[in-house]
Amino acid sequence: MREAEELLALIGQLPQMLDAAPADVDVDQLRRREREEVHRCLRCGGLAIVALVASTTIGARWVDLCSDCYRWLRQYYDQPHAPGDPA
Ligand SMILES: [Zn+2]
Repeated sequence: MREAEELLALIGQLPQMLDAAPADVDVDQLRRREREEVHRCLRCGGLAIVALVASTTIGARWVDLCSDCYRWLRQYYDQPHAPGDPA
């Protein structure tokens, strides 16, 4: 899926480097990973507090992010134009 691949490219990761996630992950699984497990932020290496799942060409993969990197990602997707687009 294009969005998942774009997300991974943004944070500089290949799907092969990430932990496999359940294909039908539910909110409880996401919250458990965020609150009861310790993972490193994929972008900066800090303590991750947000768990996302990316659907990639090799299946679902966990994407763990710290609060700063999650905010950065949200801001990227909230921009009306991606960098480099004609205004
Ligand atoms: Zn981070």
